[in-house]
Amino acid sequence: MIVVGAGPAGSTAAREIAQGGARVLLLDRARFPRDKPCGGGITIRTAALLPFSLDPVVEDVVTGARLRVRGGREVTRDAGRPITYMTQRRHLDQFLVERAQEAGVDFRDGQAVRRVHRRPDGCYEVRTGSGDAHVARVVIGADGANGVVATALGYEHAPESALALEGNLPCPNGVPEAFQHRVVLNFGHLPGGYGWVFPKGDHVNVGVGGWKPAMAKRLRPALHRICRLYDIDPSDLRDLRGHHLPMQRPGALTAAGGSAVVGDAAGLVDPLSGEGIHAAIVSGRAVAPEVRRYLDGEASTLSGYHEAVQHELLPELEASRALMEIFHVAPGPFVWGLQHWGFAWKQGCRLLRGEAGYRDIVGSFTPLAMPLLKPAASLARRRHARAFPER
Ligand SMILES: Cc1cc2nc3c(=O)[nH]c(=O)nc-3n(C[C@H](O)[C@H](O)[C@H](O)COP(=O)(O)OP(=O)(O)OC[C@H]3O[C@@H](n4cnc5c(N)ncnc54)[C@H](O)[C@@H]3O)c2cc1C
Repeated sequence: MIVVGAGPAGSTAAREIAQGGARVLLLDRARFPRDKPCGGGITIRTAALLPFSLDPVVEDVVTGARLRVRGGREVTRDAGRPITYMTQRRHLDQFLVERAQEAGVDFRDGQAVRRVHRRPDGCYEVRTGSGDAHVARVVIGADGANGVVATALGYEHAPESALALEGNLPCPNGVPEAFQHRVVLNFGHLPGGYGWVFPKGDHVNVGVGGWKPAMAKRLRPALHRICRLYDIDPSDLRDLRGHHLPMQRPGALTAAGGSAVVGDAAGLVDPLSGEGIHAAIVSGRAVAPEVRRYLDGEASTLSGYHEAVQHELLPELEASRALMEIFHVAPGPFVWGLQHWGFAWKQGCRLLRGEAGYRDIVGSFTPLAMPLLKPAASLARRRHARAFPER
């Protein structure tokens, strides 16, 4: 079987499928180790999904946050325990690929997939830019936002996405203490998103993101504003890069025949936080048992994977989407809650640590909150639609 794309979704799917005994070819167009636009924040809930420690690629352990709305008063909160690990994608993705190789995966980098098609016998033919053709009974698209596999096999591309822009500030004398072990989160500058400063080993990562249609010419000025708010000279930023964060329509197909899409290729980014590595790994894990069943002749399609996504991921992504709509009507009161109300901050930390999901947390405020979530989100969405009709 073939997995296209060796980000966290692809390497996880490949590793788990190979561990089940199947022969797996993992192709990526980039030469590894490769970087990609990403904050590299791995929440504790995400790290807990992996059967090995990420310690070798963790550059900082985040235990708190500096929270602020625009240029308002900043409040620093401490969780007293780890909530997120900071990694660089160049190292993280290489590390995950190596774990897949240890499980027997045949990894080939520098192999851009150009064409995928289903043959009359039900097998998939995958052609690369270097002219190679590979044939397999199963193909998994893990090739990120707007991936070739999804396009070739007729999967719907995510109708909504956020755009984010990030850069790195080198810190040759060490990361300033004010940034160590904390994430800086700044809200209210960009519709649908936030600004951040994440600490790494020898630099800090600074970024901004928000709804794509609202972002056209605003990303760079917003990044500069965030820099200035935290005493960073924007001209000192290196490796500026932007990318999409795709968000799928609820219920959109994620598997058909012997093919499936995982991670960003399936549009599974968390709408409120922009966290995508969690769903990449969840979906990579979820597809593996279904591939095994399909190859063993116990299932005639990979639709069991689609069902798993619908049950395991979608309800949480939907709750996150609803919260995102409501939050961005007026971020101020929500951020105030996180800054000053211990219960709200604790619930946020429980989410990042995987001790509770969005729905648990919403319900923990009042039993009425869950039933009110959807109607409140549609009202908020209508309001946003007036401001950003193209969304
Ligand atoms: C600026 C920014 C900051 C972010 N910060 C965070 C964060 O801090 N934490 C978090 O959890 N999420 C973050 N995200 C989201 C996260 O980066 C993605 O959701 C995550 O990378 C998805 O993983 P994936 O494996 O599905 O896809 P990707 O990581 O995008 O991997 C796809 C792979 O497919 C390969 N590929 C693409 N096309 C082809 C082809 N034709 N042939 C072969 N290979 C191909 C690519 O080279 C790539 O290696 C951020 C996103 C952005 C844009």
